[in-house]
Amino acid sequence: KESLDQGLQKTKEGFLSKITKAIAGKSTVDEEVLDNLEDALVGADVGIDTTIQIIKRIEARVSRDKYLGSGELNRILQEEIQQVLVDAPEQSYRNFETPAGIKPYVILVVGVNGVGKTTTIGKLAHNYKKAGHEVILGAADTFRAAAVDQLTIWSERVGVPIVKQAMGSDPSAVAFDTVQSAVAKNAGVVIIDTAGRLHNKAHLMEELGKIKRVIRKVIPDAPHEVLLVLDGSTGQNALEQARQFTAATDVSALAITKLDGTAKGGVVLAIANQLKIPVKYIGVGEKMEDLLIFDKHEFVDSLFK
Ligand code: GDP
Repeated sequence: KESLDQGLQKTKEGFLSKITKAIAGKSTVDEEVLDNLEDALVGADVGIDTTIQIIKRIEARVSRDKYLGSGELNRILQEEIQQVLVDAPEQSYRNFETPAGIKPYVILVVGVNGVGKTTTIGKLAHNYKKAGHEVILGAADTFRAAAVDQLTIWSERVGVPIVKQAMGSDPSAVAFDTVQSAVAKNAGVVIIDTAGRLHNKAHLMEELGKIKRVIRKVIPDAPHEVLLVLDGSTGQNALEQARQFTAATDVSALAITKLDGTAKGGVVLAIANQLKIPVKYIGVGEKMEDLLIFDKHEFVDSLFK
């Protein structure tokens, strides 16, 4: 809870100051207040579609409760944002347990370079290990030497084994080795890094498709999770990237990183509201402890604190 409040500090400052300005000196919620509020939400990276939904809800509420003063607007806004997220898909696992009967639990991690993919994998490994699982990492982003090096550093830092091959080797061969090794060791969790480059959609589909097929030769119902990592500090670009990725491949969960360094955290509301895929994790720092399981209610509460 505390790390969430801390991690969202910049977003909260931007968000609340914009909203405070939007309603300053107003005694009723009129057209102008709603316009200001709309600008404030868009300015806080909540995204136009989600903002319009929120404004419509407030409008409806204002016409219902005639004498609504702007003093109450903060609370109402908080409630209506919660409502907008009611239908947002939620993650069923509220901790780092794995589903009963699934061992190893195989996670494929996708996302473009620089979004925080490697860091997120390191954080996940730390958390799953802490929860008592034996974790194995697979370095299937064989296109960048730096990716393998970084993942190796994380594997040492966390103290979990890593499966890798020479630079430029077939990513699906690395994925195959990784799951085989996991089965042999009776490991609980496998986390596989992929190159997942978006610049060529057909190529991305093909590459991930091949990795999945090869994994299924060892574990027929794997991967159990395809986690897309997005950089929250890029605001609306993160939403756009999510749209492109989910159009190219099946994604089952999202991680939104770098929320600590940005005032654009409102994009999490847009992503949760717009996509039919649960936001599972948020990244609020560079250290292995800085990964939080996303809870939409806690998130909204924290924004208004
Ligand atoms: P990758 O290329 O997607 O694997 O990205 P990396 O995991 O190497 O991360 C890129 C940079 O972002 C690194 O400097 C990380 O330390 C940093 N980073 C990753 N996640 C977070 C986060 O949640 N908060 C902050 N402040 N930095 C992060």
